[in-house]
Amino acid sequence: MSEKILYYSTNHNTEPIPFHDALLKGLAPDRGLFMPTAIPVFDKNEFEKYKSMQYHEIAFEIGKKFLKDEIENDDLLAITKDAYNFPIPLEHVADRKYIMRLDQGPTASFKDFAARMMGRLMQYFLQKENRKMLILTATSGDTGSAIANAFYGLDNINVVILFPEKEVTDRQRKQMTTLKKNIKILALDGKFDDCQALVKQAFNDNELDYLQLSSANSINIGRLLPQSMYYVYAYAKLKKQNINEKIIISVPSGNFGNLMGGLIANKMGLPIEKFVVSTNENDEVPVYFQTNKYNTIVPSKNCISSAMNVGHPSNMARIIELYAGVMDEKGVILKPPNIDKLKKDMWAICISDRETKDMIQQAWKEYKLLLEPHGSVGWAGLNRFFQKHESFDNPDQLCVSLETAHPAKFPKEINELLEFDPELPESLKGLDKKEEFMDKILNNYTTFKKYLKDNYN
Ligand SMILES: *Cc1c(COP(=O)(O)O)cnc(C)c1O
Repeated sequence: MSEKILYYSTNHNTEPIPFHDALLKGLAPDRGLFMPTAIPVFDKNEFEKYKSMQYHEIAFEIGKKFLKDEIENDDLLAITKDAYNFPIPLEHVADRKYIMRLDQGPTASFKDFAARMMGRLMQYFLQKENRKMLILTATSGDTGSAIANAFYGLDNINVVILFPEKEVTDRQRKQMTTLKKNIKILALDGKFDDCQALVKQAFNDNELDYLQLSSANSINIGRLLPQSMYYVYAYAKLKKQNINEKIIISVPSGNFGNLMGGLIANKMGLPIEKFVVSTNENDEVPVYFQTNKYNTIVPSKNCISSAMNVGHPSNMARIIELYAGVMDEKGVILKPPNIDKLKKDMWAICISDRETKDMIQQAWKEYKLLLEPHGSVGWAGLNRFFQKHESFDNPDQLCVSLETAHPAKFPKEINELLEFDPELPESLKGLDKKEEFMDKILNNYTTFKKYLKDNYN
């Protein structure tokens, strides 16, 4: 029998706990991030088996390896089926180079993959224990809509999302305010930092303990596991039959949760030739790879791939841990990782805004490939990798670059560069006509606390 998988903290001051507890806790009590004590491995020929499976079936097979002690198989299959009810296109570009579009979920961003699975896993455990939870999240736009949509209609979970009224776009707001049911949207007369401060204060307020607050933020272990699944899917679907080839994957990265999912898949035995780690001008990680010195960027730079404007990736501690080092929550490396191994698996590159825009034009002109800024950083990173490593740039090499958002979410940028408006995906159509529901509060904690107590008791 294989050992039971538990979850330990990257700060190493928490007893390992089952997935269920780590999922509902989010952050470890010692402020570290949860990691699995063991990573299961794929059987020989497993990828051949996946070739004919649907996405949710592959997701189930991978999820089962981690969760078999904690969730019944039938229940897990139902969860993956319900979470992944949208297509995952693998778009051919040239030779054996592909774009995987992770943008067909309800909010047209790859964050749907993690948030939808996490929400359903939380619902499963809460229902079993007859418990309720209140998710409280501050958002500057995209995370809030992914969380709101992912948890929409789930039982035992209520959601309150706080956003700065004047700082989100109409479309971002409507993706949250047109939902209702168990989702409440609060517009704050203030800035994003004010929203974050209120949420933080609520988490530290003992009088609100009865609400069972949780943040569902990007460091939750429940978001990591789902982000390893599409790597396996892409490989299984694209590999040649009965040949153990290796794949190159380019990952546009900000908080490095997406990449971390890929690294877990690799540890499970997915044959990866190289991860191309593509960042925007927030280049603290490419610089770290080059110089062995890690310096956070404060404040982070504003680039057009806005979801990747991160000066200290929240998953960095996990990556360092995976390579046998230790990094604390402030970004200080307490024990250096095996940097040679790390650099053997990954090649990191910074892509400027100028290059991001040029690549949107070039990809369209050359291949009729439509990219938005985040996917363009990924594709440009892959191209740079080939310039530096010509031997890999051959027609037999399998490569996938991830497209993490739908081009229609960036109409202004696309129109400026390509002179047309990208067509809206189904999920974003008709938003304008839907009725909006939201509450407004003033920027002070007393009002916010009263709102929570009045609405949930
Ligand atoms: C969040 C996000 C990213 C970055 O993903 P990380 O896991 O934070 O590295 C890239 N593209 C889009 C569209 C995103 O929303």
